[in-house]
Amino acid sequence: MKNEKDYVVRTRFAPSPTGYMHIGNLRTAVYCYAIARKNKGKFVLRIEDTDRNRYVADAEQVIYDTLKVCGLDYDEGPLCPGKYGPYKQSERKEQNLYIEYAKKLIESGDAYYCFCGHEEQHDECEDCEQTFGKYDRRCLKLSREEIEANLAAGKPYVIRQKIPEGKTSFVDAIYGTIEVDNSELEDMILIKSDGYPTYNFANIIDDHLMNITHVVRGCEYLSSTPKYTLLYKAFGWQEPIYIHCPHITDEEHKKLSKRLGHASVNNLLQSGFLPEAIVNYISMLGWYPENGVEKFSLAEFVENFDYRRVNKSNAVFDLAKFKWLNGEYYKTMDFETFAKFIEPQLQKRFGENVNHAELADLLQKRIECFDDIDTVLDFVNELPKYENDIFANQKLKVDAPLARKVLEEITPILENTEDFSKENVTNVIKAFIEEKGYKNGQVLWPLRAALSGKMSSAGGAYELFNVFPKAESMRRLKVAIDALR
Ligand code: GLU
Repeated sequence: MKNEKDYVVRTRFAPSPTGYMHIGNLRTAVYCYAIARKNKGKFVLRIEDTDRNRYVADAEQVIYDTLKVCGLDYDEGPLCPGKYGPYKQSERKEQNLYIEYAKKLIESGDAYYCFCGHEEQHDECEDCEQTFGKYDRRCLKLSREEIEANLAAGKPYVIRQKIPEGKTSFVDAIYGTIEVDNSELEDMILIKSDGYPTYNFANIIDDHLMNITHVVRGCEYLSSTPKYTLLYKAFGWQEPIYIHCPHITDEEHKKLSKRLGHASVNNLLQSGFLPEAIVNYISMLGWYPENGVEKFSLAEFVENFDYRRVNKSNAVFDLAKFKWLNGEYYKTMDFETFAKFIEPQLQKRFGENVNHAELADLLQKRIECFDDIDTVLDFVNELPKYENDIFANQKLKVDAPLARKVLEEITPILENTEDFSKENVTNVIKAFIEEKGYKNGQVLWPLRAALSGKMSSAGGAYELFNVFPKAESMRRLKVAIDALR
């Protein structure tokens, strides 16, 4: 399997519906997608729902929705079956597919029945790499008659892989050749007492039957891979190309915590991160574009991605950088789209009384996610308490007494202005400046400071008059005059 041009590349994203979708899962999906698309191959979605204790009903829908919103369309999956179905392991189990293969291994001496009932101890968390001491192989010594008798008596059993003596090695595209002494490997459970296969077994059978050529997954599976290699050998099947991706950590090099909320793709979406930005950023968790251009579309990623260049070392999820990138995406959205996108947030925070279009305009180039709205527009719902130094600006040649004079002069004019549209208010202020012979800043600075109550704020005087209803603008001007007296 050297040259991808010589065969049909098939990758699979194989999530377990055990909860929310983690960004590590999504990275796997993005890499699988890119490898398939780049090589004009097929991208397959397989739902690995054999761990019935951890099954979460909604989680499957979350998987479909997330892939859809991220633009990761797949060629085969539960909702669009191809010829390798079914695409849910629970349905494959109903066809007795796994048990048949397990029995083949028993016949060839590569697996055995185990009646010890130690399953819980060993299989509590089959994906978590937890082992509680190796199984002592007691049942390997059972005679054929004893096994038959146990089976006839309906005694619960599991089927375990029999790890042979010797060494096992496999090649990973990122980590190179890895060799282990088989004495380090446990006789892992292939079929559980509920008849379901473990992930460890089902993924081998399905990857083979579905003709998967490239297996992309998190590097927490590296240590199990020798056991998979042994299964492939026992069946006489060819192994896929393994691509184990590095761990993702936070800035403190700790595992990404759910607490921070940025481990879940859904949370990110709800926090205002755009699907394009999420896909863009997480594709760089373990890979970096050779041209150094960090903002790219999924299509550009497909073009540039080479799995052989994925890093071994932990990938740091840098929230500041991720936010920056998302902000760049906001900036390039057309205004209508951005305004529509941000509208529910404005509604929630500011209600109907302020001008949402103006707020959206103020926000588009200033925020990187929804949280920033509260900082950027912290003066909208309530006029902040302020000191009079906010009215002074040396560069613009305005101090507090001049600010007071200007505000006292312009307030009655504005009060008498009926048409409070942005255009008209702008014209009225410009006419005032010209008539009085002030510099622009000497008028606009005090007005802006009075309306925002801040030394610096998003938007200038014209924008802020357009944010508030006339009454609120006039109220804020009067508060300022009082403060300056
Ligand atoms: N079902 C496994 C998971 O969700 C998939 C691992 C793999 O891609 O092989 O982690």
